[in-house]
Amino acid sequence: MASDRGSRRAHVVGAGIAGLAAAVDFVRRGWPVTLYEAAAQAGGRCRSYHDAKLDRWIDNGNHMLLAANTAALSYLDQIGAGDRVTRPQRTAFPFLDLKTGEAWQVEPSRGALPWWIFDSRRRIPGTAAGDYLAALRLARAPRDATVADCLRTHGPLWERFWVPLTVAALNTHPREASARLLWLVVRESFAKGAAACRPYVARHSLSDTFVDPALAMLADRGGEVHFGQRLRALEFADAGVAALTFGERRIALDAADAVVLALPPGNATELVPGLTVPEDSRPIVNAHIRLPEGAVPKRRLPPELPILGLVGGAADWLFLRDDVASLTVSAAETLADDPAEEIAKRMWRDTARALGLDPAAAPITRIIKERRATLAQTPDALRRRPPQQTRWPNLALAGDWTDTGYPATIESAVRSGLAAVKTLAKS
Ligand SMILES: Cc1cc2nc3c(=O)[nH]c(=O)nc-3n(C[C@H](O)[C@H](O)[C@H](O)COP(=O)(O)OP(=O)(O)OC[C@H]3O[C@@H](n4cnc5c(N)ncnc54)[C@H](O)[C@@H]3O)c2cc1C
Repeated sequence: MASDRGSRRAHVVGAGIAGLAAAVDFVRRGWPVTLYEAAAQAGGRCRSYHDAKLDRWIDNGNHMLLAANTAALSYLDQIGAGDRVTRPQRTAFPFLDLKTGEAWQVEPSRGALPWWIFDSRRRIPGTAAGDYLAALRLARAPRDATVADCLRTHGPLWERFWVPLTVAALNTHPREASARLLWLVVRESFAKGAAACRPYVARHSLSDTFVDPALAMLADRGGEVHFGQRLRALEFADAGVAALTFGERRIALDAADAVVLALPPGNATELVPGLTVPEDSRPIVNAHIRLPEGAVPKRRLPPELPILGLVGGAADWLFLRDDVASLTVSAAETLADDPAEEIAKRMWRDTARALGLDPAAAPITRIIKERRATLAQTPDALRRRPPQQTRWPNLALAGDWTDTGYPATIESAVRSGLAAVKTLAKS
């Protein structure tokens, strides 16, 4: 890629996926880059660490990409990590109803026409083809409509498809989630057929896939990365940001330098005057369970995609990596306030039922509560997403919560980082 930097330096603050994507794009364009991160490690809400209690590497929470997440997948290719996600041959999401024991697969058709909904063997148990066609109401939803405003809010399709899909895609319950945003997800994935829905998960860990290769690429191209650096203030002058202050350390900028603030919305508002951001967030709770020694699950998960969607219990998804079962509860407003020991018991109950293990066992469990996992993707909150461009020519915003048009996910984080760089490279 041709260099468009002149003598300008890029300062990227926040080493989550948005900041990493921005820093990688800057170095690819030939800019010298400095990346600052408040924490001791990069990755933000998409990170891994060695957990001493479990004595295993775990992720903060289960993450999944779909093939439709084209920006995220090309970010992985650019950092040389395209092969670090599972690439299943078939698109099939296995589900289990923990109450009834019924199991099924959601397996979209190859092309854009959803033939699978007309095949009773491929439909979700208890549903009829006509139920699915109601999805078209999402396409015509007014801006303020929630998913629940558009669909029938009871029955098997609601419980076994719309609720799991909405909380997985938007981390917001369908009774308050934006119908338009869910339609975008359906349009970009299910409505395009199996190839666009193919699910990808990190083979080993989130950091090994999304973070470490990006840091290695930055180091390789002369980028500087500083951890333990919390940005405390921005100094503004007529032409834009004139200096960055990290506690005692003040970094004066050259007139042509560029700054990307890739921070969570609450941190960004403290630093940028007059910024409107989505304020409401929703939690995700994850349980990481080290299966009892010698336990052999009766239910086998396919090695190329060892995941299982759950309904009728407390958890939404179970991911199995070696001997660790990781369960996710999205839109977990109620559960997040429960004590970790209580949550651990409920998660083991679901795991034992799902995998066919002894419910009386009491395995070692780590509960991770991400209280501000994503913004609440309600019509009201989405209106408050700001663009990446600011009124200062050398300052841009990034983060999954900025206005990318996409749900607050890795895809949105990457897109926001690229959009921030594009604005600054132009100015
Ligand atoms: C449990 C969980 C499950 C998820 N599942 C999925 C999924 O399946 N698929 C998917 O696509 N997405 C998923 N997401 C969402 C995804 O993780 C986020 O969209 C993405 O990681 C957000 O990246 P970001 O860079 O915008 O923000 P962040 O990751 O929040 O990055 C912001 C960074 O800024 C740093 N920072 C904050 N203040 C300062 C400061 N003053 N100075 C310097 N640094 C600062 C923070 O430490 C952090 O590293 C999930 C999120 C969670 C929590």
